[in-house]
Amino acid sequence: MQDPFSNAMTQLDKVAKIKNFDDEIISRLRQPDRDIKVSIPVQMDDGALRIFDGYRVEYSNALGPYKGGIRYHSSTDISEVKALAFWMALKCAVVAIPMGGGKGGITVDPKLLSKGELERLSRGWVDKLSDILGPHKDVPAPDVNTTPEIMAWMADEFEKITGDKTAAVITGKPVDKGGSLGRDTATAQGGFYVFQALKDKLGLGDKCNVVIQGFGNAGANAASIWQAAGHKIIAVSDSKSGVTNTNGLDVEKLILHKQKTGSVLGFNQDNSGCKEISNEELLEMDCDLLIPAAFENIITEANVDKIKAKVILELANGPITSAADATLFKKNIVVIPDVLANSGGVAVSYFEWDQNLKNEHWTKQEVFEKLQPMMANSAENVFKKAQESNTDLRMGAFILAIESISQHYKNI
Ligand code: GLU
Repeated sequence: MQDPFSNAMTQLDKVAKIKNFDDEIISRLRQPDRDIKVSIPVQMDDGALRIFDGYRVEYSNALGPYKGGIRYHSSTDISEVKALAFWMALKCAVVAIPMGGGKGGITVDPKLLSKGELERLSRGWVDKLSDILGPHKDVPAPDVNTTPEIMAWMADEFEKITGDKTAAVITGKPVDKGGSLGRDTATAQGGFYVFQALKDKLGLGDKCNVVIQGFGNAGANAASIWQAAGHKIIAVSDSKSGVTNTNGLDVEKLILHKQKTGSVLGFNQDNSGCKEISNEELLEMDCDLLIPAAFENIITEANVDKIKAKVILELANGPITSAADATLFKKNIVVIPDVLANSGGVAVSYFEWDQNLKNEHWTKQEVFEKLQPMMANSAENVFKKAQESNTDLRMGAFILAIESISQHYKNI
C-alpha cells in the first residue's frame, strides 16, 4: 500500500516539473510547519486506563489559520495525517478561502468505544492540544468517523480550559451549538456544483450512470443529490459490501436500510434486480461517473487497468495513487481531483467560522447561494490552468493553489 504522504510528495514533484516553480516554494511545501503526536490517556468503562495516539499536523498557514478535520480510524497514523494536512493547504487555496491547511487524528476504531469513552477521548485530544488551537490559529473540523456531537464536546472542552467562549474554534458543530446550516451535506453538494460546472466540457450529459464507493456522510449525500438531479445511481458500496441495480437504486430506501442494519448489505428493494457486488467489482463497473467517497489508495496500479468509468470525481481525499493517476490520464479517463471536488466541506466550514465570528446565522439557502459560485469558479479556474499547461485537472488544481500560496510568500 502506498504511503499517503509519499503519494502527496510525488504529486508535488510532478507539479514542480510541469510549472517550473521556484525551488524555495516547493521546499517550503515539502514538510509541515509542525507535526505533533500526543498520548491521550482515557479511563475506560471497566476502570482500566488506555493510552491512545493522537495527532495534529499544521501544514501551512500562508493563507490563514490552519484548517482541517480530525480523523478517527484504526489505521490513522502521522503519515496519513501529514498527507491530509498537505491536501487541506492546497484545497483551501483552490477554493480561495483565507485559511491554511492542517489535519488531526486519533488511532482508534470508534465503533469499539462506548459513548462515554468516545467523549473522554475527544476531550482528551483537546486537553493535549488546546494551546495550539484557536479561531485565529488552528480550527479543526470533522473528518472520517467524527461527528457534530464530537465537535461540540471539543468546543466545550476548549472553553473549559481557556475560558474562551468562541464557537469559531471548531467547525462542523451541531446547528444549535453554532454550527452552520448546510455543513452536513456541504462536501457532496460542493462536489455536485463542481460536476455541474465541468460536465459539458467533459462530455457528460444530464442522465449519467453513477457508481459510488463509500456510503458514509459524503457518499450517501452524493447519492441523494445526484439522484435528485436526474442521474441514475447504479451501484454503491460501504466497508462491508456493495449493491448494484442497473435500473437504478432507490437511494432513499437504501439510506433507511443502512440506518437500520448498519450496512448496504442485503438491500433488495422490492426484488427489483438488486445484486450484491464486491468493492473490487464495483470499482471496475462500466459507468459515466465513479465517485470514490471513502479512503485513500482505492485505485492503484493493481486495478487501474480495469477501470472503465468515463470520469472519476474524488469526494474522498487521496483515493488514487500517483502511478494510477498517470495511467488514467493515458487512458483518457478524467479525474476531478479531491482538492477541488471535496472542497465544499471546508468552504462551508469557513462560512461557519465567519458566521461565528460575526455572530450571524445564515439560512441554508444563503449558504448554498454562496457555495455554488465559489465551487463553479474554482472548477473553471482549475480547468483553465490544466489547459494552459496541457496537463490533467489535478495538476491544474495544484498550479492554481501553489501560485496563490507562493504569492503570499513573496509578500513577506
Ligand atoms: N475533513 C474535511 C476535508 O477533508 C473538512 C475539513 C474542514 O471542514 O475543515 O476537507
